[in-house]
Amino acid sequence: MEQQPTPDDALAFHGGRLTVDLAGIAENWRRLGAEAPGIPCAAVVKADAYGCGLAAVAAALWAAGCRTFFVAHLSEAVEARTAIPEATVYVLNGLLPGSGTALVAHGLRPVLGAREELVEWAALAAEAGRILPAALHVDTGMNRLGLSVPDALSCAGDPLLPRAGIVLLMSHLVSAELPDDSVNARQIADFARVRAALPGIPASLANSSGVYLGSGAHHDLLRPGYAMFGGNPTPGRPNPMRPVVRLEARIAQIRHVEAGDRVGYNGRWTAPGPRRLATLSLGYADGYPRAASGRGHALVGGAACPILGLISMDLIILDVTEAPGARRGDTAILIGDSLDLDRVGRAAGTIGYEILTGLGSRYVRHYVGGTATPAAADPIRAR
Ligand SMILES: *Cc1c(COP(=O)(O)O)cnc(C)c1O
Repeated sequence: MEQQPTPDDALAFHGGRLTVDLAGIAENWRRLGAEAPGIPCAAVVKADAYGCGLAAVAAALWAAGCRTFFVAHLSEAVEARTAIPEATVYVLNGLLPGSGTALVAHGLRPVLGAREELVEWAALAAEAGRILPAALHVDTGMNRLGLSVPDALSCAGDPLLPRAGIVLLMSHLVSAELPDDSVNARQIADFARVRAALPGIPASLANSSGVYLGSGAHHDLLRPGYAMFGGNPTPGRPNPMRPVVRLEARIAQIRHVEAGDRVGYNGRWTAPGPRRLATLSLGYADGYPRAASGRGHALVGGAACPILGLISMDLIILDVTEAPGARRGDTAILIGDSLDLDRVGRAAGTIGYEILTGLGSRYVRHYVGGTATPAAADPIRAR
C-alpha cells in the first residue's frame, strides 16, 4: 500500500508550510452569523477563498450549513460549482460580455450592476424559456459597480427587474471597518430607501466589518469574507475571530556575525555587535511581502525575531540572538500566534487582506479540521 506522506515528510521537500484550519473557518462563519440571529450568513470566497483554497474552504462551509457563496469571477464560480454542486453561487463582477452562456450552463447568478447587464440577462432568460435568478448591485457610495441610487429608485415597477430574475438587492460599504465614518450611516439610509422602493426582494449589505455596524446593516443576508479567515473585522478592538492560517518556514542555517558585518542584498543591515542569525527557507516568491524587509518579525521558540535587511526571493534572514534555542531545521512562524494577519499587513505597509490573497503556492499546504470531501480529504495538497 502506498504510504501517505506526513506533514513533516512534506517539510523536507518544501521550505515552509501553510496550515489552514477549516474547522476554524467554519467556526468564524458561525460567529459572524451569531451577530445577526435569524439572518442567514453567506460566504465570500473570491480570490481562491482569500488564498486559503476555494475547493476545501467551500466544502467545509457547505458542511457547516452555508448555502450561499460569492466569488468575483466566472472561473472561480465554476470551481465553486464543482466543489459544492448544490450551492447558490453569485458572481460579484457581474455579466461581463461573453460570459452569459457559461453562467447559465453552470447555474450561476451574476450580480448585475448596469442596465445593459439587466437587458442582456433578461434576453438570455427569454431564450432559455425560464427565469434566471440574479442579484442587482446598487452603488451607494463606492462608485465602482452597480446602479446609482436614483437609477435604482427609478426601477420601481419596471418589468425588467422580474424578467432579469432579480432575487437579491446588494450594495457594498465603503468604510465599514471605520464605524465612526459618517459614510456608513449615509449608505445604510440610501440602501434602505432603495429596498423600500423595490419591495419583496431580499437584500444584503454587510461585509465582515458591516456585520458589526448594527442591525441597520444586516438586512436578509450577511456577506463576510476576510473575518472568516481570521482577519479582525473590528480594527482597534479585540479580534472576535479565531486565527485559522499559520505560515511556518524552516531554518536552513544558523550563523554568527560581528559588529560591522553587513547582511543580505545591498548590505542593507549592518550588525551593531555580535549577533546570531537564522536564514529561513522562504522568501517573497512564496508570497511573503518583500515590503516587510527590516520591519517584519518571525516567532522562533516564542520569541519575536526581527527580519534583517532585504527579504530575498527564497530566503529571509532573522536575528535570533534572543532565541538561543534556535537550531537548523527548526520552524519559525511568519503568520500565526501573536503575528496575526493584521500585524503582518502593517509590517508590510498594507492590509491583512493583501497578505492572505498573496499566500503562495510553493510551500506545502496542510488542511486540518476538514470534512471528508475530495478536496479536503487529501491532507497535503502540494499545489
Ligand atoms: C469582497 C467583498 C465582500 C467581503 O468583504 P470582506 O471585507 O472581506 O468581508 C462583500 N461584498 C462585496 C461586494 C465584496 O466585493
